[in-house]
Amino acid sequence: MKKTYLKANLKYIFSLQFAFILLLSSAFSKDIHTTILISLDGFRYDYTERGFNSTLKDVAKEGVYAAYLQPVFPSSTFPNHISIITGLYPGNHGIVANNFFDYKKNEQYSIGKPEATNSSWYLGEAFWETCRKNNVIAASYFWPSSENADEKRRPNYYHPYEHKRDYLERVNGVLDWLKLPIGEQPKFITLYFDSPDSYGHNYGSNSRELNESNKALDSVLSYFFTELKNRKIFDSLNIIIVSDHGMTDLSKERTINLKQIIPDEYATIINNSVYAFIQPKEGFNQKVYELLKQNQNYYEVYKKSEIPQRYHYKNNDRISDIFVIADCGWLFLTDRPFSDKYVATHGYDNRCMDMQATFMAIGPDFKKSYRINGLRNIDIYPLLCELYGFEIDHKIDGDLQEIIHILK
Ligand SMILES: [Zn+2]
Repeated sequence: MKKTYLKANLKYIFSLQFAFILLLSSAFSKDIHTTILISLDGFRYDYTERGFNSTLKDVAKEGVYAAYLQPVFPSSTFPNHISIITGLYPGNHGIVANNFFDYKKNEQYSIGKPEATNSSWYLGEAFWETCRKNNVIAASYFWPSSENADEKRRPNYYHPYEHKRDYLERVNGVLDWLKLPIGEQPKFITLYFDSPDSYGHNYGSNSRELNESNKALDSVLSYFFTELKNRKIFDSLNIIIVSDHGMTDLSKERTINLKQIIPDEYATIINNSVYAFIQPKEGFNQKVYELLKQNQNYYEVYKKSEIPQRYHYKNNDRISDIFVIADCGWLFLTDRPFSDKYVATHGYDNRCMDMQATFMAIGPDFKKSYRINGLRNIDIYPLLCELYGFEIDHKIDGDLQEIIHILK
């Protein structure tokens, strides 16, 4: 008798709890939709119009489609992905290039190196950290900086980067996350594909190989969206598709050999292909600057204090005393000769048209068939915060007012 009473009581408690969870989850799903942020690395603003991407074209037609997404300077992969996910300029989130030296810490940062996951490099708050602070589950199927060595600064679920990981496996991984029960299922997910960048670098921005790879990538997206539609969840998801930067073609006629201008004994050079950090050795500061100035042709040379404000690069321990940047389409050489396996690149002034990236978005919170002019990628973080109703409790460079018009 006693047992039955206890059982009945437990049943009552459970059903109350269940009703409460249902109430919570319905309130949640009514207001906050799961958002998937997809990056197509190096997918230039104009690739969608080439006729190789019918899935992307449909998203662009039905949702929000920007004429371009302006990257931050430098228009390199890590600085831009981290600006997208933090709303900060590289000078403020700390990843000022794919390769740089911290002159205060006396340590080098290079992407892909195990030390690059050390939390102290990353000065900004990634959106998945904001999610976790707000008790929202976040997941990342690859994104630069998602592999932070500090567990608390990573998404709840993540994968260590594996360049050759099959694309369908990535998509199926995301689909599996979306099958998890409420309470375990991520409400924010990132997904990353490298092929537009890799094929662009190797074959050129107008190559058949790049177009073919974009076509293959489109069919991966088509599979992904079809699966979401079959499960009848596509219409309740926000999907934002971005790229980090564009791509421009190089030529062996447009190279500048920095080693021929500055002898090794004068300075240390960290060459990021189209911009370089030049740290003169003791007593050679003026000499190195003069040599670079005298030879200035198809590049700009700046003393650290003279770097243009729009680069947001000054006052940073990770910027060398002298900084050089090549004109769009020109390449800095140091040790390696020009290679026909590296025929296009990016990283230039973020005003260069070929550096402009892609933005499109579809879902219940976005306007329909809304074609707009350029957007800035630093405004995506505040946009995400708006979608989830998160208060921004720290200083950012992005501005919600610049982008809020794309929401319903
Ligand atoms: Zn990239």
